[in-house]
Amino acid sequence: MKGKIVVISGPSGCGKGTVIAKLLDRDSNLKLSVSMTTREPRAYECHGREYYFVSREEFEKRIAAGDLLEYTVYNGNYYGTPKTELALAQEQGTDILLDIEVEGAANVRKAGLENLMTIFLAPPSFEELRKRLTLRGTEDSEVIERRMERAKKEILEKDKYDYIVINDDLETTVDEVYFIINNK
Ligand code: 5GP
Repeated sequence: MKGKIVVISGPSGCGKGTVIAKLLDRDSNLKLSVSMTTREPRAYECHGREYYFVSREEFEKRIAAGDLLEYTVYNGNYYGTPKTELALAQEQGTDILLDIEVEGAANVRKAGLENLMTIFLAPPSFEELRKRLTLRGTEDSEVIERRMERAKKEILEKDKYDYIVINDDLETTVDEVYFIINNK
């Protein structure tokens, strides 16, 4: 029996990273797919853990070679899912979690994979989202505005997902997502 492929999308700042970290802690059968990106690493990020950080040239080579299940351009940078991440999970018999934005999720749906489930994580409100992005302090105000604009577009896509979870309270959200992954 193959493992599940779980896509989680949600606007930048909605708490997705924290929810995912807690899920991975709780569920030893769930592994995170490490994406490839051309964005600069943040201070705490390591190559091969949060992302594979590569040059544009390298990323475009991967596209041409057909190495990516899906990819997109987000705020001027490439982000994509290496096919090897899914192959590895399949080999190890684990479920795999893809933290990807809405265009990538649409492309994964089109790929017609078996055992796919998609979850949209929504912030309680736009005001709360702006507050969280500002408090995080990893992006300057221009990037925050661009991420807010993108969030408005992303939220319009939420009904295309199998499940929508509103991240109001962290622990409740983690419980809900854990339940969805393990009981559906
Ligand atoms: P960040 O720069 O905050 O790490 O990520 C920005 C956005 O890119 C997030 O919404 C994240 O889910 C998305 N993302 C990360 N990796 C991938 C990927 O491999 N493919 C796609 N389509 N989106 C990704």
